[in-house]
Amino acid sequence: MKRTNLIGLSVRDIFDLIASEGYDYSHASSITNSIYKKRITDLSMISKIPKRLKTYLSEIAVPLIYEPIATKISTDKSVKYLFRNPEGQQFETVFIPDGRRNTVCVSTQSGCRMGCPFCVTARYGFHGNLDAGHIINQILSIPPAENVTHVVFMGMGEPLDNSENVLKACEILTAEWGMAMSHRNITISTVGITPAIIPFLEKSGCNLTLSLFSPFPGERINVVPAEKKYPALEIIEIMKNFPVKKKRRLSVAYVMISGVNDTDRHLEGLKKILSGSEIRVNLLPYHQVHGDVNVSSSGERMMYFKHNLVVSGISASVRRTRGADISAACGLLASGLSRSRCTK
Ligand code: SF4
Repeated sequence: MKRTNLIGLSVRDIFDLIASEGYDYSHASSITNSIYKKRITDLSMISKIPKRLKTYLSEIAVPLIYEPIATKISTDKSVKYLFRNPEGQQFETVFIPDGRRNTVCVSTQSGCRMGCPFCVTARYGFHGNLDAGHIINQILSIPPAENVTHVVFMGMGEPLDNSENVLKACEILTAEWGMAMSHRNITISTVGITPAIIPFLEKSGCNLTLSLFSPFPGERINVVPAEKKYPALEIIEIMKNFPVKKKRRLSVAYVMISGVNDTDRHLEGLKKILSGSEIRVNLLPYHQVHGDVNVSSSGERMMYFKHNLVVSGISASVRRTRGADISAACGLLASGLSRSRCTK
């Protein structure tokens, strides 16, 4: 009999597994606390549950934490991990240390089916969704797991194209019975799948970042084909009107390419669509890959955008590049699998 993987299960799922044997919710909670907080893989080591439950559990389930198959370390100390799960799907994860802040960038799919032309992940093809267990394993299994403070869903794949598993992973990351991380430290980055936006905002307290690229639909559609079905301006309206709890962050990511989307016209367009909102703008450098004619906007130009947005009452920041030398920077994941790039 194939045993159920406990990693990726909620406390309710585990309660359902053990209730027929007469065990209760507190037993399920002891199990989730042991596997998610203490990363216990030996069921006999789980505390606060009877020996008979340990025996029963080991017959039907296993906490499957599997390690990456390859690692690359950047000169800036970022680390990229390559995973292959038991189903044969491959995906990458990045650990980004930054002072007291240690971020893990997780993948939600093996490949992607959004078809963004700048993206090499799209060229790798789509090899399926990752379930919540495979998403959570990317955090639990890496050597610096104990020091992780932040998680961003910004690796391979479009998170809201796999929203059920992403919502479940967010629940495990933030629940008291799970990893008990702050909602404020978890961010989902999306090109925008309109029907999944409101459910995500309602069911999760985590941050949301929309990858914009251009304030003009006619330009955005050339880089983000999802724009055709799911216009960014509609999503921005949803974000503007959603009642956001204090300290939850809704933002747009704006990857800046010299002469393409960094003109004064673009700046004015950004101000127009975001004025009067609480939406923050993250200005990101563009990462060039071999044979690419586009180059990132200069640091000066990015600061110019930031200054003008802030003066207009729009909160904005310039993000720096991490892990570019190991193709781990935003937009370069999966280049080791084929040749991939993500504009998120
Ligand atoms: S840019 Fe992001 S959403 Fe678009 S194809 Fe690449 S991974 Fe998918």
